[in-house]
Amino acid sequence: MTGAGGFIGWHLTNALKARGHWVRGVDIKAPEYGPSAADEFELLDLRRWDACLLATRGGVEEVYALAADMGGMGFISANHAQILHNNALIDIHTLEAARQQGVRRYLYTSSACIYPEYRQTEAQVVPLKEEDAYPAQPQDAYGWEKLVSEVLCRHYTEDHGLETRTVRFHNIFGPQGTWEGGREKAPAAMCRKVALAKLTGDPVIEIWGDGEQTRSFCYIDDCVEGLLRLMRSDHREPLNLGQDRMVTINELADLVAAVAGTRIEKRHVPGPQGVRGRNSDNTRLRQVLGWEPAISLEDGLARTYAWVEAQVRAKRAGGAAPLG
Ligand code: NAD
Repeated sequence: MTGAGGFIGWHLTNALKARGHWVRGVDIKAPEYGPSAADEFELLDLRRWDACLLATRGGVEEVYALAADMGGMGFISANHAQILHNNALIDIHTLEAARQQGVRRYLYTSSACIYPEYRQTEAQVVPLKEEDAYPAQPQDAYGWEKLVSEVLCRHYTEDHGLETRTVRFHNIFGPQGTWEGGREKAPAAMCRKVALAKLTGDPVIEIWGDGEQTRSFCYIDDCVEGLLRLMRSDHREPLNLGQDRMVTINELADLVAAVAGTRIEKRHVPGPQGVRGRNSDNTRLRQVLGWEPAISLEDGLARTYAWVEAQVRAKRAGGAAPLG
């Protein structure tokens, strides 16, 4: 698995080990919030071709390709050249190395960011179906790179017979995700802001834009279940994986405050917001996997908030953050 030191990779490694698989985890960094359950964990820079050959060596049968230089809107909207350069190298080299090493199945992690900007201009957006991806007009370089790599996977299947699976995530969140430092995404950032409001007694939290932009959010356990099911399926086309309940960022803040049991005052400030509205159409997901994400946003936020608050408390106390 590449990106095994990251948020989704850490959880997916646990799930694969729990099902009895042997796992080699590869990343440019170790997991930040707890040790990896992988049988082998190797620090490799997957922009490099030789590193990708090492990562896929030794009879690896399946690759979950999760490595990417990524973050939330703040990071993605401000680092286009770096993201396109790094992720293109990672994806081109990892896929070709997998082919040369005789890997049988390859799961590529794409993103809802590949969907065209012109379909996401209203907060009350029509949920996005897989075929809505074209004519292409992703908002950021991050989305363009993901889209090209989706196409690369399709051609590797057609030209080389490598079985590829492609998932398009819609805002995955949960414990063990980045919650500070500039790469955190909206749910973790909101949990941190609300936790700080609760712990300091200052109820003001900042929200980028008017907070009426909409998204759907999917809890990590559902994401992992969907990944395992997709890898086993015979579906070769890209597939949405997310929740189809859309909320505004203001509503997200209120839900987190309710979970935290604290009062907040929202201050709307200028900041990157991404597209105005986005939601997942899960029709094909249900057809293909016979399943869809089931953990409610409230449940997921409760579990995530508890973890982020513990991190914030530990940091304020000057100690090491608790694991797990
Ligand atoms: P993450 O940032 O926590 O994990 C990505 C990992 O890739 C990180 O641990 C990072 O160190 C590693 N990486 C970056 N550059 C590397 C390099 N040169 N060599 C080796 N490893 C490198 O992100 P995540 O949320 O776990 O996302 C996993 C995958 O899912 C990514 O491909 C991401 O683009 C995609 N995705 C995630 C979401 C989401 O909501 N979390 C949404 C859409 C797509």
